[in-house]
Amino acid sequence: RAKATIGQTVAFYEARMDEQVRERRALTKELWQALASEGFRLHYQVQKAVATGEVTGYEVLLRWTHPERGAISPAEFIPLAESCGAIVPLGEWVLRTACREAASWTVPHRIAVNLSPLQLGHGDLVEMVRSILAETGLVPERLELEITESSIVADKERALEMLRALKALGVTVAIDDFGTGYSSLETLRSFPFDKIKLDRSFMTEVETSPQAKAIIRAILALGRSLEIPVLAEGVETCQQLDLLQREGCDEAQGYLLGRPAAVVEAVATTMAAPSLVPEAAASLPDRA
Ligand code: C2E
Ligand code: MG
Ligand code: MG
Ligand code: MG
Repeated sequence: RAKATIGQTVAFYEARMDEQVRERRALTKELWQALASEGFRLHYQVQKAVATGEVTGYEVLLRWTHPERGAISPAEFIPLAESCGAIVPLGEWVLRTACREAASWTVPHRIAVNLSPLQLGHGDLVEMVRSILAETGLVPERLELEITESSIVADKERALEMLRALKALGVTVAIDDFGTGYSSLETLRSFPFDKIKLDRSFMTEVETSPQAKAIIRAILALGRSLEIPVLAEGVETCQQLDLLQREGCDEAQGYLLGRPAAVVEAVATTMAAPSLVPEAAASLPDRA
């Protein structure tokens, strides 16, 4: 009897696994189709200087609306694209489209494009970036590339070489989701990053965890002494923004400042503080 139960349980899980495998396969196929038929879109999320409210740039975020399933999160389809290799042509599409769109804006804001670790290890990334800049006419200073620590752990020498070559083109490079990796300090010491993007998890925990607050302070101090500006991700509340202002964080990004959107507003690049968050400005303490 026990045997039958185990057998049934195994059969149940096998059936479920089959179903998951089938679904994954179908989604992978649809992802390639979407890539071939312009099924992807780009959204842009504003980044602002904490002290002045000035727009410093926009992060480019990939969006996929599936014909039947509706919007699928990048957290779901990016890993899928990475495991089937589609991330390489998809990442190239993102870079080319973002550069082309940004080149047509009336405001010369910088764009920050996410790169998958797989793109760093595949083919000639530097040549691809160079040729896309040439093709779209975007000045290199308007392009920032966001990479995560996992991009550089595999082959540090090669990663360093590539980073230097990218910077030689005139583009800047940010380290994304900083603080979640395991060798963060070593990474900062040996790689010439232009910006540190403090992982969103610290913002999430800042109001409830004194440890998170202490780590934010420590990373800001580190950024200052290494002369690398720090951007805080995932800023959702005025309290979080207020803390960042008090602690001297350079830039912020999050729903409070602006949600990712298909269109970039032609905002003035020099907004006076405290208009960092127009609708919330009244609740910001006056620091003038
Ligand atoms: P990321 O690069 O760290 O991007 C920031 C993510 O945080 C975005 O999620 C953004 O919508 C979200 N976010 C921004 N502000 C807030 C906030 O205040 N609260 C909360 N809860 N979330 C906020 P999204 O667009 O779902 O992207 C998730 C991840 O997928 C990105 O994390 C990035 O790793 C990856 N991704 C997105 N687009 C691309 C792409 O074009 N290429 C590659 N390789 N990865 C991408
Ligand atoms: Mg990013
Ligand atoms: Mg990030
Ligand atoms: Mg993140």
